[in-house]
Amino acid sequence: MTSRNAQIAAADRRHVFHSWSAQASLDPLPLAGGLGCEVWDADGKRYLDFSSQLVNVNIGHQHPRIVEAIQRQAAELATVAPAHANATRARAAELVLEQAPDGFSKVFFTNGGADANENAVRLARLTTGRDKVISHYRSYHGNTGAAIAATGDWRRVPNEYARGHVHVFGPYLYRTEFWAETPEQESERALRHLERTIQAEGPDSVAAILFETIPGTAGILVPPPGYLAGVRRIADEYGIVLILDEVMAGFARTGEWFAFEGFDVRPDLITFAKGVNSGYVPVGGVIISDPIAAAFDERVFPGGLTYSGHPLAAASIVASIEAMREEKVVENARAIGQDVLKPRLEALLDSSPLVGEVRGRGVFWAVELVEDRDTRAPLPAARIGALKADLLGRGLLPFFAENRLHVVPPAVITADEANVGVDLIEEGLAAIA
Ligand code: PLP
Repeated sequence: MTSRNAQIAAADRRHVFHSWSAQASLDPLPLAGGLGCEVWDADGKRYLDFSSQLVNVNIGHQHPRIVEAIQRQAAELATVAPAHANATRARAAELVLEQAPDGFSKVFFTNGGADANENAVRLARLTTGRDKVISHYRSYHGNTGAAIAATGDWRRVPNEYARGHVHVFGPYLYRTEFWAETPEQESERALRHLERTIQAEGPDSVAAILFETIPGTAGILVPPPGYLAGVRRIADEYGIVLILDEVMAGFARTGEWFAFEGFDVRPDLITFAKGVNSGYVPVGGVIISDPIAAAFDERVFPGGLTYSGHPLAAASIVASIEAMREEKVVENARAIGQDVLKPRLEALLDSSPLVGEVRGRGVFWAVELVEDRDTRAPLPAARIGALKADLLGRGLLPFFAENRLHVVPPAVITADEANVGVDLIEEGLAAIA
């Protein structure tokens, strides 16, 4: 008899077209349920979720309060057009803003992180009257862009922006582009590179700097001291809007509500998604500083979405932020980072020759896997695949990006669960060494 897993996998392979993949060789893990930091497949095998799925389930799986809030809202009013006012949406915006710094009093809701960044860029371009956007080579900001350029009516005209993207290298001391030997050198030289790029591009043409506060998918690249403060200074000097992408880093991941609270910087626009409601319903948004919001008091904002501020998403945001506050989820993520993940992952540097560097904070860590510590040559894909299979076999659901194991469990993880997960990683590394 075929297992339930096999049936689901077969149905998936018949009809589901997957993201970022050549389709023929896919073998997706069928997941059927979850609770807290655990998920299980359709045949009942359990996994400790050290991925938070796509680094978004910060509150853990099936939090009863969020599930119930969605059910209650669905029974009351399951959908409402963005042009109407709705109490749940207004409350969601209010709660998001309570976590933001002073000087932010509006939220524009989107369907996810990519369109949050699209709309932040749109706000920056319209308020500065400039086009170019500078971001890091090592970054991920989402997968959209052509939809509005393909549109035929007036909404296309103020949005034909498939141009003007400039990239710079950001700090990454372990694989420095700047021949730096210290974090301070890396920071100073990356800032000079950024400023020289702006000067060469023409400062009057640069609308926005769009950076992840801590680049996530690119390797959890915690910025060195002074870098983000320097970025702020440069943005101010040239009249550029600073957008910080908090889609992955925000809402407890780093042990702060927003990752930038851990650095000496305040952005003009903040984009969020993922952790704001742990993905129970798709949602994202832009938190808008007052001067930028005021620019649209009398002027039309040429952007919108059918599901902007969808009530099921809004209900899940309200419940999620309330639960995070009451259960001290942000504080938990910070403590787990300091007391368990930092010391235990750093100890892997001694126990495994495959570990080249460990970096992160909160429940946001990267273990850089190398085949040679001196050359820092990345561990080849085949050995990464072997480690992934080994960890799955041990009951750990890991997250890999290139040659890195990203240790990104839910922010509600207990010290015991975190220790079990790191034990399994230690065993897996020993098995493939
Ligand atoms: N920004 C960052 C930092 C992300 O990590 C992601 C997704 O991983 C996005 C934006 C895009 O978000 P979404 O997939 O919800 O469009």
